[in-house]
Amino acid sequence: MTAAILTEGLPQVGAEVSCIPALKQFSRLLLEKNQVMNLTAITDPDQVATLHFLDSLAVWQGADLSGKDVIDVGTGAGFPGVPLKIAHPDVRLTLLDSLNKRVDFLREVCEALSLTDVACVHGRAEEFAAGHRERYDAAVSRAVANLRLLAELCLPLVKVGGVFLAMKSTDCEEELAEAKNAIKLLGGKTERVVDYTIPTTDVVHRLVVIRKLSPTPAKYPRRFAQIKKQPL
Ligand code: SAM
Repeated sequence: MTAAILTEGLPQVGAEVSCIPALKQFSRLLLEKNQVMNLTAITDPDQVATLHFLDSLAVWQGADLSGKDVIDVGTGAGFPGVPLKIAHPDVRLTLLDSLNKRVDFLREVCEALSLTDVACVHGRAEEFAAGHRERYDAAVSRAVANLRLLAELCLPLVKVGGVFLAMKSTDCEEELAEAKNAIKLLGGKTERVVDYTIPTTDVVHRLVVIRKLSPTPAKYPRRFAQIKKQPL
């Protein structure tokens, strides 16, 4: 069944069906490891295919990331980064997460799937920025923080001219409005908002496409306690 879902859904998100075996292997590794550590609340393989894989791949609708340096901030069990890398092998990927156990899992996945040009990094985005400021063509992030906070974690990492793709639900109007000032202060501008239906489902999610127009002032990002206490 999962193969049928992917066969139908992958072309709709700009991916080839030839990546199905690798996606199925990732799904197996994810669900196996999920028995012993908390990686995902979604445990039905068909839902892994739709709500994790096809959803992750919909990021491509925000920007063509071929050959780009991409960082997935707060990647967790590898979403959206790992499906993106499987479907688009020429992406140079950094998977960043503050939870070491998850990063160890991602290293196992990369080895098992022979994924190259992937850096699995244990760290906090706001600290990682010190050595990796404006290094990436794109930052992607799903389900990590409110956009107002998330912008301060992600935009400092993005090159001027690059893009920050925030994966959100469709009820984020207020969140978007509240984040407007933060995005501007950090050198970004919301370019467009793309609502997409996850193929083979009726679930609609939203991609917020934020362009980096000018350098992020050196005082950002601040320490996380400060970001949380006084969001921009
Ligand atoms: N992006 C994945 C997804 O959509 O399934 C994981 C989402 S999970 C709810 C949020 C992840 O963000 C966690 O794995 C957490 O450790 C990580 N995280 C939270 N704050 C972070 C930060 N400041 N820097 C790096 N990772 C962070």
